[in-house]
Amino acid sequence: MPIATTNPATGQVLKSYEPMSTEQIDAAIERADLAFRDLRRTTVAQRAQWMNAAADLLDAERDETARLMTTEMGKTYAAAQAEVTKCATACRFYAANAERMLADEPADAAAVKAKRAFVRYQPIGAVLAVMPWNFPLWQVMRFAAPALMAGNTGLLKHASNVPQTALYLEDVFRRAGFPEGAFTTLLAGSDAVDRILSDPRVRAATLTGSEGAGRSIAQIAGRELKKTVLELGGSDPFVVMPSADLDRAAEVATTARCQNNGQSCIAAKRFIVHTDVFDAFAGKFAANMAALRVGDPMDAGTDVGPLASESGRDEIHAQVQDAVAHGATVLCGGEKPDGDGWFYPPTVVTDLNPQMRMWAEEVFGPVAGLYRVSSYDEAVAVANGTPFGLGANAWTTDPAEQERFATDLDAGNVFVNGMTTSYPELPFGGVKNSGYGRELSALGMREFCNTKTVWVGEGAATAGAGAHAE
Ligand code: NAP
Repeated sequence: MPIATTNPATGQVLKSYEPMSTEQIDAAIERADLAFRDLRRTTVAQRAQWMNAAADLLDAERDETARLMTTEMGKTYAAAQAEVTKCATACRFYAANAERMLADEPADAAAVKAKRAFVRYQPIGAVLAVMPWNFPLWQVMRFAAPALMAGNTGLLKHASNVPQTALYLEDVFRRAGFPEGAFTTLLAGSDAVDRILSDPRVRAATLTGSEGAGRSIAQIAGRELKKTVLELGGSDPFVVMPSADLDRAAEVATTARCQNNGQSCIAAKRFIVHTDVFDAFAGKFAANMAALRVGDPMDAGTDVGPLASESGRDEIHAQVQDAVAHGATVLCGGEKPDGDGWFYPPTVVTDLNPQMRMWAEEVFGPVAGLYRVSSYDEAVAVANGTPFGLGANAWTTDPAEQERFATDLDAGNVFVNGMTTSYPELPFGGVKNSGYGRELSALGMREFCNTKTVWVGEGAATAGAGAHAE
């Protein structure tokens, strides 16, 4: 895949880059390794000062950065502005909370026959981040802010279609004061990942992306015995039960499916509706979806911009056509428009069955599948009947049902009566083919820490007696 900015609203290539040579990549890894030796010795307070400076730069440069993201991957300008603000908030959150998250945790010294025993969290070194284009700033920041605050250094291999956003990220951290090499963008294709991750100076990897990319990185990391965090695809269920507020559920369903032009890992993709309210919900939802305005993502009146790539649009259209060929009914949308840009109309498809690709595959665009169920148990069975397990939504005002959904849905997060989203305060990640490990919160920060047990005895000859040797 060429490393280039191509405007998805026009199909025009605006800027191309030569991939870095292996010598350039090796030099960047060396700088990251050297920078780690310095960064790990800086205080958390010093790193917090730099992280807050990064937040200030993001805020000051919000509109320009948002325009760049919209030009590179097609999200609406308003959504891009909100993404920049979210990144600045996350930087400030980790700056304010890293001291607490990284503090030594005392253990029961008497129980382990120590004078003192505790757990200490320490950085592990240079971490490779392989990232997707859909939230080109946020996906990187939710790794970079906690990782840098912990004292690690970052090597970013961003998606090949967002090189300018990738370079901007390196620039922000440098101007904020982080040492040279603390955060480096590698302009490289996915074919360079094996070599980078095999380098002994690179200690771990995090990938946000597709299942295929996850399997590939996990294989390399397995061979090299390196820690990975994988944030992969999702096909999130959105369950609507009879007690739900249908107007609100249909409104949120529309946003949950179409935000970011339908290209979000945690977008609601499968709408599983109880038969008692199926027709009412389907009518409201399809009407909302059909009313969304598709067009120029820079225009303030646009709800849904183009898909990020021509191949991405072809793929979702093929999934819709396959469903129709196997007997699905299209309630709105479903036609591929002519003209420039990779636009696709918000689409609702129903009468789905397991023979259709949409049943098991992730649909990465503004296309919703509607499923009719007749009981709680059937709703949970359909919701969990997917290889993925990233997020899940349940709409019910019955407190007992809310509790049951929280337990029964196989997903890394369950949102009841609200849209799945991510917060710096809450862990984020998946189960099953959606990956493993967690980002965000203290858990995310500690993924790339050495959780070190420290045991201190009296210093007398009997210290440690009774412990088992390993
Ligand atoms: P993708 O094709 O997997 O690309 C993601 C990144 O991985 C890019 O940097 C890409 O590089 C690289 N890559 C692709 N194949 C690779 C391989 N075999 N080895 C090493 N690196 C490889 O995914 P995408 O199309 O950009 O993003 C959409 C997918 O990401 C969806 O499945 C979505 O659900 C998932 N996603 C998940 C989360 C989450 O938090 N769980 C968040 C956002 C998106 P190139 O660009 O150079 O190919």
